[in-house]
Amino acid sequence: MADRIETEVLVAGAGPVGMIAALALAGRGFHVTLAGPPPSAEDRRTTALMAPSLTYLGSLGLTDADFAGAAPLVTMRIVDATRRLVRAPTVSFRAAEIGEARFGLNIPNAVLNAALGKAVTSHPQITRIEHPVTDWNMGSDRVEAVVGDTRIAARLAVAADGRNSAARTAAGIRTHRRELPQAALVLSFAHERGHGGCSTEFHTENGPFTQVPLPGDRSSLVWVAKPENARELLGLDDAELALRIEAQMQSILGKVTLEPGRQVYPLAEISASPVARSRIALVGEAAHVIPPIGAQGLNLGVRDAEDIVGTAAAFRDDPGSDTALAAYARKRLGDIAARSGLVNLLNRSLLSSFLPAQLARSAGLAAMRDIAPLRNLAMREGLRPGSGFSSLFSRSREEVGR
Ligand SMILES: Cc1cc2nc3c(=O)[nH]c(=O)nc-3n(C[C@H](O)[C@H](O)[C@H](O)COP(=O)(O)OP(=O)(O)OC[C@H]3O[C@@H](n4cnc5c(N)ncnc54)[C@H](O)[C@@H]3O)c2cc1C
Repeated sequence: MADRIETEVLVAGAGPVGMIAALALAGRGFHVTLAGPPPSAEDRRTTALMAPSLTYLGSLGLTDADFAGAAPLVTMRIVDATRRLVRAPTVSFRAAEIGEARFGLNIPNAVLNAALGKAVTSHPQITRIEHPVTDWNMGSDRVEAVVGDTRIAARLAVAADGRNSAARTAAGIRTHRRELPQAALVLSFAHERGHGGCSTEFHTENGPFTQVPLPGDRSSLVWVAKPENARELLGLDDAELALRIEAQMQSILGKVTLEPGRQVYPLAEISASPVARSRIALVGEAAHVIPPIGAQGLNLGVRDAEDIVGTAAAFRDDPGSDTALAAYARKRLGDIAARSGLVNLLNRSLLSSFLPAQLARSAGLAAMRDIAPLRNLAMREGLRPGSGFSSLFSRSREEVGR
């Protein structure tokens, strides 16, 4: 083994969450080593990043100008496209209703990762090593990791090494894991009619089929289906697949023309508990994996990064101490449990032919359509946990004061 490096914080995994965590830690003055291969430039997914996540990226120096090829999300609509006995009404959420110009931006993953990668490599406080961690060793006052032919010692390791996190296993953190009978086909397409900044999530018996706006008359698609159906869709010729997509969207955007490049992602539910121990703090998909419904996954990962950085700064003397890690785990508990619980429940209610589950989903969406304050609460909570309730209370305080 040639080198031994001592660093304040080691971030393992250079996916979006790892890069965001590294930038934020470096911004707070930590010396950070970021280890892991660069993310694939062939990732065809796009990510709907909500306004609070964009604000956080803004605080790290990344603005709209860094995200060429992104489009604003101004309306989000849910359409029940199941052929079930009980069907939910269509519900539209408009950013203008809560006084916002947009909910967020739909950014191609390749663009987001390239912008983050550029910021990381030009940051003077970040040492970037493009090799994976191949071994972990947890000590009482340091964690050590082998990266290439270097041994790196740190007070805290932030594990952003994805859904099969080796750091999580090394720390002895248990997971609840369920491979889902679903896979997501992703691609981008052009269409005849304008989308007006609207994303439409069609709920089907096999999961959501979600169109999300891109610049011009273009959109990205996440089509959740049974794995065998997703594989069949992947193999269709462009003309046939375009017809299937148009039919699935009930022709709301007219004729569809596919852009090159399709991929299929297997889906799973994974939750780790606790999210930190033995000098390792899990962030992003190392801590939680949920199906792609309502654009929650990476937004949740951004909040993990925000919280581990806040905690590390508060426990500056030893950010990987048991006390610091317990504080981080406590902070993340409610948000992760609430988001994962809601998304998994909604997904299961789509797959279930159990009548009470359909009734509950339908009643929930009907209430959301008809009761404006409830809809507003859902929109604010969807953007950032707690913000819906705090806005309700501040409004009622204003009313009392009048
Ligand atoms: C189809 C689909 C659509 C989605 N759409 C949205 C959306 O619109 N909005 C949203 O918020 N979320 C969305 N998500 C979720 C989002 O993609 C994930 O939350 C996000 O990619 C997680 O990022 P991450 O950095 O935690 O993990 P990853 O992106 O998986 O990165 C993990 C990194 O760790 C690296 N690694 C692995 N092992 C090691 C090792 N031993 N050492 C070092 N590095 C290692 C890997 O190479 C990888 O680069 C979607 C997910 C899917 C599947």
